[in-house]
Amino acid sequence: MAEVPPRRPETLAATALGHEDAATGALIPPLHPSTTFRRDADLGYGRGRVYARADNPTFDAAAELLSALEGGEQTLLFASGMAAATAVFLSLSPGDHVVVPRVMYWGLRSWLLGFASRWGLEVEGVDAEDLDAVRAALKPSRTRLVWLESPANPLWGISDIAAIAELAHRAGARLAVDSTVATPVLTRPLELGADLVMHSATKYLNGHSDVVAGTLTTRSKDEDWDRIKAVQSQNGAILGTFEAWLLQRGLRTLFPRVQWQCRSTLDLAQRLAAHPRVAEVLYPGLPDFPGHALAARQMTGGFGGMLSIRVKGGEAAAVAVAARVGLWKPATSLGGVESLIEHRASIEGPTSPVPTDLLRLSVGLEAVDDLWADLDQALDSSR
Ligand code: PLP
Repeated sequence: MAEVPPRRPETLAATALGHEDAATGALIPPLHPSTTFRRDADLGYGRGRVYARADNPTFDAAAELLSALEGGEQTLLFASGMAAATAVFLSLSPGDHVVVPRVMYWGLRSWLLGFASRWGLEVEGVDAEDLDAVRAALKPSRTRLVWLESPANPLWGISDIAAIAELAHRAGARLAVDSTVATPVLTRPLELGADLVMHSATKYLNGHSDVVAGTLTTRSKDEDWDRIKAVQSQNGAILGTFEAWLLQRGLRTLFPRVQWQCRSTLDLAQRLAAHPRVAEVLYPGLPDFPGHALAARQMTGGFGGMLSIRVKGGEAAAVAVAARVGLWKPATSLGGVESLIEHRASIEGPTSPVPTDLLRLSVGLEAVDDLWADLDQALDSSR
């Protein structure tokens, strides 16, 4: 018999890892609302489930698929991306040194500079696109963790995951990557040497702007992972059952959604770069973007569905564009089927590194010509 090659990631996602219920023939993974599981006569739990805060079988479909897509040993589903990210830092100890990017998702940056620093972590911000800066920030035997986000929200800078993994490991630190924007369709940080990959599954993984969720996938089930699992379970930072079910449903269309979004975003970035009202387009897919060559090496099949523009005329002109769009919705978040536009500086506040003339665009699944027509009229009337 001819040998069947291993299934490709697109197939694993579309088929929910080939799920089929042996008893009923159902092709769709089930939803188990039970919070508790039968104990054996000898007081054991032979089937491995005790209580749903740690062992919810509805998590399995999304968690196992993500482990397969990321090439990791295990995945945990959290109540939000923030719950997933903060669990990693809370699994460390007060006094530990961590290296984080200066430009990153602002909510996590605020938590690191506020709660985590008060709790006792020594948080050092670096330009994560500069290998020398990362190298200089590492303190051998004191730095426990390097955190990256690539592309990094909302300027979309690219970090060299493989090179930084090597630097971190040489210093005795672990590397965790927020891969929310890249998704496993475009980048697989564990294959590049990272130890952990995190997602705000609220974004592309679920993809429909109707679930708040987060995930962590580990390269190996080691002691550090056990500490993260304990933080999750003891803090109760778990996803709801229905949300976990919706997440596996969203994941099944991850590949076609992200691939479509990459095509539309590149097309819009090229058109925007030639628009007289646009001062600058920030998108890793454009050849003159500083991280383009690295993105072309590190990302496979596209440069993502997020871009930012700087509008000529400053903050007032940028705010006017966001107010004049119709098809694009002026709203926060990203990675859904609908296109969103947002003035980031006014959300992030005075400590934000984001220019005040910047608009962040999350490209959805609408026809790209309709998206362009709407943006073009909003830009033209902003002068
Ligand atoms: N990481 C990135 C890159 C994000 O954009 C977000 C949310 O916007 C988060 C993490 C936090 O995720 P959540 O909103 O699911 O807590």
